Amino acid sequence: MENLNKAQNLVQNAEAVIVVAGNGLAKAEGLDLLGEENFERAFPDIVQKYDVHSVGYALDQHLSSWSEKWQLWSRLIQKYSLAYRPSETLKQLKQLIGNRQYFIATSTFGHFFETAGFNENRIFNAFGDWTKMQCSSGVNHGLQDSSNVVQKFVVAKSRAALEHLVPKCEVCGQPLEIHMPLNDHFYPDTDANSRFRWFLTGNEDKNTVFLELGVDETSPQLREPIEHLVAEYPQWSYVAADFPQETLLPEIQERSAGVNGDTASLINYLVTE
Ligand SMILES: [Zn+2]
Repeated sequence: MENLNKAQNLVQNAEAVIVVAGNGLAKAEGLDLLGEENFERAFPDIVQKYDVHSVGYALDQHLSSWSEKWQLWSRLIQKYSLAYRPSETLKQLKQLIGNRQYFIATSTFGHFFETAGFNENRIFNAFGDWTKMQCSSGVNHGLQDSSNVVQKFVVAKSRAALEHLVPKCEVCGQPLEIHMPLNDHFYPDTDANSRFRWFLTGNEDKNTVFLELGVDETSPQLREPIEHLVAEYPQWSYVAADFPQETLLPEIQERSAGVNGDTASLINYLVTE
């Protein structure tokens, strides 16, 4: 890893911290979107039934029956989110932020930061959160927690029981689906998005560090747009776990540190050194 001292200075001197976390972070927390080996070991029956070999492909299945969809989703949500225990890295991240103001913008959808004890009003899940449910009608009828539904689905046995468990929208009666952009009527969490924008506005003239963790090619929205945003405000700085310095924008070279390592090593260094 390179630039560790510079990264340390930028993070230590910041009044506010904005964490930008991509799917590489989800992978470190156990949810590897495209990984096949662990998926095949965990869900041999799903592999056999649908011929899918990763979480990403499982989510891409267009099943016609709502009970079957929920049965599949529930297995995944149970394993990767309800049974999830936060890693040492997320605990260290909390320690690193300390009493400072923070916000987290992430493409991970597994509810990891919330479970690790970060304030849910300080998190924007840009690609949704599969522990929440949205209406499938194409009209935004709000979000609800899915954990009760998931827990019932994973233990239900009979077909009739499964049919009965399909959650319905309280407003219009249509089935609910997981809150993810799986089709063309995904509604991003607009309240969280507004809170994030207000947070950015409120910190325009403050010493603010953006901490990029686990951003890879599956979440390009979290890369260049964020660097351009940092470039606009001279008080802001950027620390990237995953990229080498020379790949960062020329305009932010002086106030950025590309560490070219991984999230766990970077956070561990920042907390312990
Ligand atoms: Zn509805």
